[in-house]
Amino acid sequence: MVRRWIMHVDMDAFYASVEQRDHPEWRGKPVIVGSASPRGVVATASYEARRYGVHSAMPGRRARERCPEAIFVRPRMDVYRAVSAQIHEVLLHYAPEFEPLSLDEAFLDVSGMGGHYPTLQALGRAVKAEILAATELTASVGIAPNKFLAKLASDWHKPDGLTVIGYGEEAARIAPLPVRRLWGVGPKTQAALEARGWRTIGDVAAADPEELAAHLGAQGRVLYELAHGRDNRPLTPHEPRKSIGEEETFACDLTTADEIRTVLLRQCDTVAYRLRRHHVRARTVTLKVRFASFRTLTRSKTVTEPMDLDRELYSEVEKLYNQISKTEGIRLLGVTASSLVPAVDAVRLFADESEREQQVAAVRDRLRDKYGADVLRRGYWLEEGPEEEEDTDGQSGTDVE
Ligand SMILES: [Mg+2]
Repeated sequence: MVRRWIMHVDMDAFYASVEQRDHPEWRGKPVIVGSASPRGVVATASYEARRYGVHSAMPGRRARERCPEAIFVRPRMDVYRAVSAQIHEVLLHYAPEFEPLSLDEAFLDVSGMGGHYPTLQALGRAVKAEILAATELTASVGIAPNKFLAKLASDWHKPDGLTVIGYGEEAARIAPLPVRRLWGVGPKTQAALEARGWRTIGDVAAADPEELAAHLGAQGRVLYELAHGRDNRPLTPHEPRKSIGEEETFACDLTTADEIRTVLLRQCDTVAYRLRRHHVRARTVTLKVRFASFRTLTRSKTVTEPMDLDRELYSEVEKLYNQISKTEGIRLLGVTASSLVPAVDAVRLFADESEREQQVAAVRDRLRDKYGADVLRRGYWLEEGPEEEEDTDGQSGTDVE
């Protein structure tokens, strides 16, 4: 029987590393992707910033206090998604399917790859090298008999790490780790375990399973299995997407029609781009509006001809927006496309008319994949301009229309 081997791939400080890749002058410096504004949080901190105690999900203001010289960068989700797609392409060379956990993390079942590489280490090095070649970014890789161990392993020698946990050595390798490294253990469970004197994974493995269950119920049994390095969770590969959306909370409530229109146009542009990148079209578009008082409305429209152009989405969104009575400032806006159909099946009624737009969109998409959304804002967005992003490649304002 072929042994099961699961690989976990995790990019190192992903968003921050992409920014340092694209802005060489930021390499070696503390870079924080996120916002230091009152409602802002840290999405990713570079390793230089982590030395100051900055970490993901920390309020931006606190990050600024801990590391005043940090370079704050607004996330460029389009660029990160495009890089993520490149990584996924690489992963498909090693397994027919994979389970993405986020843009920069995935599980693969590499059980079938054994014959192609002399060792699992060699397989891991090959994956890392191919990701580096495709993206100029480093990944940490863990290979182990199951998901729980593979994820622990990828974290073992981060960044640029490669760790293999073999059959038979599972329990011994993980025994010294603190209990919080067990899957599903948060601060509450950690406290409950430590109160009983179970501080390390080895302590849990050596505990009486009945006693664990008595204190932690069903979770106690799961933790006992995990502590022995046993985890039977299957891989759950990519689910087909049900919707694609974009929403934004504003540091200051929006009040003018111009501001609102600019945001909705930009969101429609981003959603349309992502629809095309996923090779799907949407029959339904939903507008979400949250007012200053937190009153939240959603309005949807379903059309007969599936959409994947910003103009198509915006024309529906604009109508939906105009039907809403506005009595206060707007705190959040969002646009979501749903009722997705594969693009190949979506026959257009007015093919000639939209053909040129499709061609223009395809050119824009390729530039955007390469340089990010800010280089391609249409004329009516230029007044907003890119913020922290430097124009490093002379491509800003590239005219494709
Ligand atoms: Mg990561």
